[in-house]
Amino acid sequence: MSRRIELLAPAGSFEKLEIAIHYGADAVYLAGKDFSLRNFSGNFSAIDMTRAIQLAHANGVRVYVACNIYPRNSEIPAIADFLAGLKDIQPDAVIIADAGIFMQAREIIPNIPVHISTQANTTSFQSALFWKSLGAGRIISARELSLEEIREMSRQTGMEIEAFVHGAMCISYSGRCLLSSFMAKRDANRGMCTHPCRWNYAVVEETRPGQYMPIVEDERGTYLFNSRDLCMIDHLPAMIDAGITSLKIEGRMKGINYLASVVKVYREALDACLSDIKAYQVRDDWRYELDSISHRPYGTGFYLNDPDAVVPAYDDPQPSAGAVFLGKILESDASGMARVDVRNKFSQGEVIEIVRQKGPSVRDVVQRIWDETGVQTDTAQTGRQVRIELNHAVQAFDLIRRP
Ligand code: SF4
Repeated sequence: MSRRIELLAPAGSFEKLEIAIHYGADAVYLAGKDFSLRNFSGNFSAIDMTRAIQLAHANGVRVYVACNIYPRNSEIPAIADFLAGLKDIQPDAVIIADAGIFMQAREIIPNIPVHISTQANTTSFQSALFWKSLGAGRIISARELSLEEIREMSRQTGMEIEAFVHGAMCISYSGRCLLSSFMAKRDANRGMCTHPCRWNYAVVEETRPGQYMPIVEDERGTYLFNSRDLCMIDHLPAMIDAGITSLKIEGRMKGINYLASVVKVYREALDACLSDIKAYQVRDDWRYELDSISHRPYGTGFYLNDPDAVVPAYDDPQPSAGAVFLGKILESDASGMARVDVRNKFSQGEVIEIVRQKGPSVRDVVQRIWDETGVQTDTAQTGRQVRIELNHAVQAFDLIRRP
């Protein structure tokens, strides 16, 4: 396979960036504090962003900076300042949706490639050609497109095409939605969606206050939309065959345990695909890993023209709980000792799973625990750093969880 296909992961914080690098992302997307569509995800100050880009580049990982809001008049000067700041730290691309910001970027940072955000709703090759004529290098395809439509866009334009391969799906048209503005005064189009489409709703009849009648759809559920999560692990060859050059994982707001599992699985799957696309088969341990993270029922979105794949998941409205994330390995030594940043309490003798950088997760038993002062203890408390003894070797940034 001669085309370069990249695995692109979200990096909503510095820690998430480190995890994405550890588990094999080729590139990450991140945002400054102000001008992305993920205002709750942590995001980076100018100093942090500089550090992030340095760390990523030192590891051979590309960084794309999102600046994909639709700004108001008053924000134009601040956007100009933000773009000028990027000139110094040289990300590998900037992600833009708005035509005005695109024009500013071409003027202020003409040497930094522009990727057209999925929020720009690029749904046809003609619209992709429009962006190409203005100097855009990559289209992040609208989520509504089928693989056949993406194939045509790739063929007609010769552009790089980035498309989501895994993650939560927004039920509105390319993420344009006012539900959150109405329900929570948080504008989804400015990165502050509170996901009210997934809240639990009921109806109250005017003369019976306090009596909540669930909204029943086909007697199968009480959610308004409850979109499925996208999972294209079975269809990577088809995505590559359609001309997609960047497989994008959704989830800048998700935790590092989610990120670790998804990046690791798609890294291994993409490598398998690239080494022999015809022999590609989904491994059981990949499915196990993707099922071990909290998720809504998986589907294939609009890609395969399968109407059932976009029907809301009425049968199974709650996201699955996923395995309990216990901690992150900070360092380890050859004798099987490891220092752990504890995220959820665990105990000596407990069976855990190690999410290794490569290969299936392995089960182990916590042999012994020492607290920060070096005193042996029965339990590792949340928020502490402890040393533990395991049977298997681990390395920094490996995660442990309760199976
Ligand atoms: S409320 Fe739901 S449909 Fe609307 S933007 Fe947020 S996630 Fe998308």
